[in-house]
Amino acid sequence: MMDLFEKCYNPKENSALYDAKVAQERGLYPYFLPFEGTEGTEVTYNGRKIIMLGSNNYLGLTHHPKVKEAAKKAIDEYGTSATGSRFMNGTLKIHRELEEALAEFLNKEAVIVFSTGYQTNLGTISALLSPKDYAIMDKEDHASIVDGWSMSHAKFSRFDHNDVDSLEKVLQKIPEEAGKLIVIDGVYSMAGDIAPLPQIVELKKKYGARLMVDDAHSIGVLGKNGRGTANYFNMENDVDLIMGTFSKSFASLGGFIAGDKEVIDYIKHYARPFIFSAAMTPSSAAAALAALHVMQEEPERIEHLWNIANRMRKGLKELGFDIGTSNTPIIPVYIRDKWKTVMMWKELFDLGVYTNPVFPPAVQPNDSLLRTSYIATHTEEQIDRALTIFEKAGKKLGIIK
Ligand code: PMP
Repeated sequence: MMDLFEKCYNPKENSALYDAKVAQERGLYPYFLPFEGTEGTEVTYNGRKIIMLGSNNYLGLTHHPKVKEAAKKAIDEYGTSATGSRFMNGTLKIHRELEEALAEFLNKEAVIVFSTGYQTNLGTISALLSPKDYAIMDKEDHASIVDGWSMSHAKFSRFDHNDVDSLEKVLQKIPEEAGKLIVIDGVYSMAGDIAPLPQIVELKKKYGARLMVDDAHSIGVLGKNGRGTANYFNMENDVDLIMGTFSKSFASLGGFIAGDKEVIDYIKHYARPFIFSAAMTPSSAAAALAALHVMQEEPERIEHLWNIANRMRKGLKELGFDIGTSNTPIIPVYIRDKWKTVMMWKELFDLGVYTNPVFPPAVQPNDSLLRTSYIATHTEEQIDRALTIFEKAGKKLGIIK
């Protein structure tokens, strides 16, 4: 008889779990490392300080006094949990305040907040699409977008990454009468490149599709005061739905979707991950709202973030690393070979730099990489130290000359 748990006890060769076990045996396992503490730009592991180049804390607000204070105050006012769905008992005034402030910031009629960014994509896409509709996705879209489509039971097409000709070919094949939702990332989480929004908007109009942009990595990074991709391209009216997460620039936890009032109202009544899950905690909502205020009060943070990322990008390129097409504060270092990537990760970690190793299927086959990302509070000294460590590790492993 077949035992469902067989795969857990005896994973197949080359499966993710098999590789994890091999890595563990060789002392190379890079995941679930418990940090004892963090100051944002540096973390402590086994009593050792390590430069953090793997966080999405783009504006460095996780330790901002105003953000921390707002979270503490919300606990005093509302307690530790909303203890229920937004639909029922879980809506608090702080949720509404956050939604209204975001709608104004993004120049959209309405916003609803979800408990995570993952749930936001899952809920929005599955609520809007029915089996006769089409989800049209970039091949490097985030997994939560793909899972949202999967939950919708809609038809789907994927186009080559950031390739507008490929998108047009896909759109030509879809019946005119079908509902069409193009879903892209504003900034891609692994490649660190920006979507060609003007050309995508042109195609959306030509083929009568709607457009949703996942701005998880763009809010706080691109556009005026970090308003994201649509603002960066001056196309706020052409993007139908702007999605974002609070777990990155907002230094909190949760997600949101912004759009026309009627559409947001529809999502509110049909998104199962919104209806059947508890609301954002009061402290998460308050931290996100405080972060939104800091974003507008301290624009110099965005400028510093870009200076730091540009310094690192230039340094990595000069050393001879392959960083692909990145032009944002996400810089992948492509190693391509799976085991070499793990060894480079370990070497960097031992020398004092934390990066995130990423393997297929999270990236295309043969695109194994170390994902690095930058924080507005990184200092130039930390960046230069990280570059020296990259040089030493890269030369030792023969990745650069
Ligand atoms: N979209 C993108 C592009 C992301 O990178 C992520 C998180 N890595 C999410 C959505 C999900 O956000 P969250 O972590 O808030 O669930």
